[in-house]
Amino acid sequence: METKTHKLHVFFFPFMAQGHTIPTLDMAKLFASRGLKATILTTSYFAHVFSQTIEKSRALSTQIEVLTINIPCAEVGLPEGIESVHMVSSPENQLKFFEACGKLRPQLDLLLKRHRPDCLVADTFFPWATNLASESGIPTLIFHSTGYFSLCASLCVFLYGPQKKVSSDSEPFIIPNLPDQIELTREKLPVDFSREDMETEFARLYKTTRRMEMGGSYGVLVNSFYELESAYVDHYRKVLGVKSWQIGPLCLYSKRAREAETSLDKHECLKWLDSKKPNSVIYVSFGSVASFDDEQLMEIATGLEASGKQFIWVVKKEKKEGIKEEWFPEGYEERIDGKGVILREWAPQVSILEHEAVGGFVTHCGWNSTLEGVSAGVPMVTWPVAAEQFYNEKLVTQVLRIGVEVGAKKFVRLVGDNVKREAIEKAVRRVMDGEEAEEMRDRVKGLAEMARRAVEEGGSSCLDLNALIEELRLHRSNTS
Ligand code: UDP
Repeated sequence: METKTHKLHVFFFPFMAQGHTIPTLDMAKLFASRGLKATILTTSYFAHVFSQTIEKSRALSTQIEVLTINIPCAEVGLPEGIESVHMVSSPENQLKFFEACGKLRPQLDLLLKRHRPDCLVADTFFPWATNLASESGIPTLIFHSTGYFSLCASLCVFLYGPQKKVSSDSEPFIIPNLPDQIELTREKLPVDFSREDMETEFARLYKTTRRMEMGGSYGVLVNSFYELESAYVDHYRKVLGVKSWQIGPLCLYSKRAREAETSLDKHECLKWLDSKKPNSVIYVSFGSVASFDDEQLMEIATGLEASGKQFIWVVKKEKKEGIKEEWFPEGYEERIDGKGVILREWAPQVSILEHEAVGGFVTHCGWNSTLEGVSAGVPMVTWPVAAEQFYNEKLVTQVLRIGVEVGAKKFVRLVGDNVKREAIEKAVRRVMDGEEAEEMRDRVKGLAEMARRAVEEGGSSCLDLNALIEELRLHRSNTS
């Protein structure tokens, strides 16, 4: 039986990428705030990032522990010291990184045996971890770092495939068995199971995860909220039969910490935003992994300038040794002085989106970014690049109708395909000005309000979290 003094102990094992570690830290904080003990397993690179946040709060530092694991880079032919997926740029090395992660099994096994947690929250990219914990009788929740719409779409494509025979990768088909009629093309699928050549390592991983989701795990933990995609929450649970809990938007749990930031901590770009009118600035960012080549950067620079809108643009350049920065149009920096801010590599994204001066968001539709845009009530220009981002684009533009597509056509790992300046200019204007923009803004502001309520006491995400914790307690008392 569980004693009164026993604290439920949850292990978190996120994939080593910002899009997975950021919501994991928020989850750990959330569980800790409910009196549970949280342990995060990660590389020393992320352990260092986490400890900077955790050490700021005494309450957190007693409830959250970070244990480090070592990626066996040499075993797969990667240079030593690669501790995050953003540290590798080529698709070949990315695959090697996944392979190296698969070799973490003995380290995880040892830690599970030593600590005997009551639950493991394992990343979608580590289906082997779900297996391992289940073999030891530890319930495992899969964390996908994506929402219900894309979970449903992925599962439906996996189970039923594009039903209509399509003659080319760019011919549209309807995703089968979804609540809405959503068209997609094969070139936008993360994994196209109807192709025989898809027996890649990534495709195998993807398939194993789908199977785990449908019965090999205790359930699925989702960073979303019921009101955002209720038809898809119900579809996932009742029609596709996956047990799940939604506990988001996780980014809202860190809101108070951000509000406590003093003006001294304030990033320069936030001070710049303070001087701007409401809804007058567009924020442009493609997340922590995607980067562009010079040609595409030139198109973005020119398209933003032509839109006449003020902007903050986070530039991540394709990493090639010895390449000079030649993508700025002639005299660009002088011309945008005061009108545009270009940030290198990293921006305080959530704080930027929450600023009242920001009226639009050009996004690659990573799930965290999408949810952060929704939670801040900002309409979006969607520009997906990889992974499940093309699904998220459909949710934003067709289901929620809070954004417009820029017209990205293909799934391209790491480097985006070429979107022309005219398309960028047009899409930026559409989300910033006019009646259509106002309608989108009203809709997304309504969703932001629902998001805020979902995480409050008695809100849908709060209730789901309560139910999950109760179930874990019950599971523990039944098995100990
Ligand atoms: N992010 C940030 N500053 C940046 C770029 C990204 O704070 O300059 C954060 C962003 O707020 C989000 C995460 O990194 O929480 C990116 O996750 P997402 O799922 O959007 O995309 P990914 O990076 O996984 O492609």
